[in-house]
Amino acid sequence: MSDTHQPVALGRKPAPAVGSRDPLSPEAARAAIRAAEVAMLDERRQLTADELAELAYVPEASVPSLAALAHEVRLAWCGPEVEIEGILSAKTGGCPEDCHFCSQSSQFDTVVKATPFLDTDEVLAAARETAATGATEFCIVLAIKGPDERTMERILELVPIIGDETGVNVAVSAGILTPEQATRFAEGGVHRYNHNLETARSYFGQVVTTHTWEERADTCRLVREAGMELCSGVLLGMGESIDQRLELLAQLREIEPTEVPVNFLKPMLGTPFAHLPAVEPLEAIRWIALFRLALPTVILRYAGGREFTLGDLQAMGMTSGINALIIGNYLTYLGRSPEEDLKMLDDLRMPVGALTKVL
Ligand code: SF4
Repeated sequence: MSDTHQPVALGRKPAPAVGSRDPLSPEAARAAIRAAEVAMLDERRQLTADELAELAYVPEASVPSLAALAHEVRLAWCGPEVEIEGILSAKTGGCPEDCHFCSQSSQFDTVVKATPFLDTDEVLAAARETAATGATEFCIVLAIKGPDERTMERILELVPIIGDETGVNVAVSAGILTPEQATRFAEGGVHRYNHNLETARSYFGQVVTTHTWEERADTCRLVREAGMELCSGVLLGMGESIDQRLELLAQLREIEPTEVPVNFLKPMLGTPFAHLPAVEPLEAIRWIALFRLALPTVILRYAGGREFTLGDLQAMGMTSGINALIIGNYLTYLGRSPEEDLKMLDDLRMPVGALTKVL
């Protein structure tokens, strides 16, 4: 359900996130990166919030060194495997929520129009296509605030069929859950449930007004309590400051996700965030590295906006802490071809595998 013609707001000069202090000197940056290396590779301990804050302020020239450390940490804490996932928008558009970055909200005038839940055959065809790439995870995504009873039944009917037919793990993203719904999904075989925090608690009100950050965090907690793996992602580049990104890292540590997809804003025409500048490629690399250093054991997934934001630096992201990819298309726009991503992994000598079994 990708829209190849969806208009993207292009042509804005990338702008760095606003910080509350000056960048470190080159000497201080080298010392901070070296201290983090000793902590994470020799002492094998997690970095403190203060140590992470230092690293967030290394100068641009030190970002490749930061990225190199994040790659070593990824290999030491997670191993060499890269997990591949395909996602399918099984019910697109018409969402009543007002997430300001999202072209699927019915509150904004975008080209994405509401469509009903796909047929079982369509979902199965996409799952088979995903499995054929070597992917081990297939996520069914619905543009809804939360599932009603009919939607619950449809998802619970699809999950075992997909698992039996393709052998891939089935993940679901269907919004805010009640405790009872979380239990039913877990018992119905949902392997991983996606519910993004998106941004820091202190910035959430600038992004969404129709539900709260706390509602999102509650669903994340329910997912883990029910026994599913929690996938909780972020969207960088919505105007949040550097300190708010650090706040988000601390909040992600608290909810203990198995997987963290890192999305970068791709400004969509018609949404309130259409005017925002893109994240600079080197800044994106800095934050990929910081997410790895803050969350050394998570499955850190390249998600939406990577082609738009990183361009030629996509392979560099793979050596900056990323160990998972969404392959193929995103929810409302096309990604680059699976062949290109598989070639990139082959060139980097990165084996494809199911990370749940490794971590
Ligand atoms: S809840 Fe999801 S689909 Fe709905 S507007 Fe927000 S991000 Fe978009």
